Amino acid sequence: MNITFISAPAAGKGLISSMLNEKYGFPHISIGDLLRSVDDEKVKKQLQNGEFVDNNLIALLLRDRLSSDDCNEGFIIDGFPRNMSQISIYEDVCLHVNDKENIIIVLDIPRSVGEKRVTGRRVCLKCGYVFNEYFDKPKVSGVCDHCGNELVQRPDDNLETYEKRYDTYLKETKPVIDYFESKVNVYHVDGSKSGEETFKKIEKIIGGYND
Ligand SMILES: [Zn+2]
Repeated sequence: MNITFISAPAAGKGLISSMLNEKYGFPHISIGDLLRSVDDEKVKKQLQNGEFVDNNLIALLLRDRLSSDDCNEGFIIDGFPRNMSQISIYEDVCLHVNDKENIIIVLDIPRSVGEKRVTGRRVCLKCGYVFNEYFDKPKVSGVCDHCGNELVQRPDDNLETYEKRYDTYLKETKPVIDYFESKVNVYHVDGSKSGEETFKKIEKIIGGYND
């Protein structure tokens, strides 16, 4: 099974990808991670400034990664394609890697839930534990339950950044989903529930294939 996650920001695709990786062993291929691994000053700057990275480079990285033996039984692509200009790369490079079924999973999340996930997120820099002021409060506000360290808000976890990312998703990524809706097997899953609930729904989809 080859699974591609396309979702709004903060829909939980990173978490779900790791859960799938753990249970089924499919490698989790994050485009962000692939790009961050490139040792090139220009690319580093583009990533830092949230700028557009050359599609040819992305195609090259993906082709290389997907040719690994560990992708023979399936893989999980997280964060690609993001806009209409990447569709042909996806079709050329990602859909014919092995003889397994290709599916796209869209984790749907209302903007209001994503906003709370992001603005409520508090991280312990000492033990790495993540809390949320709305959904998963620490016993004492601002203090880590596990090690007693102070909890902090990441600089990127602010409303303005989230709104920008969500608007970009609607404008650039949503048309990609519409495009594939009639071509590949596209499944919509509610991403606003807990990771466990979302994972169960995805397991059911996977179970429907005798892959
Ligand atoms: Zn801690």
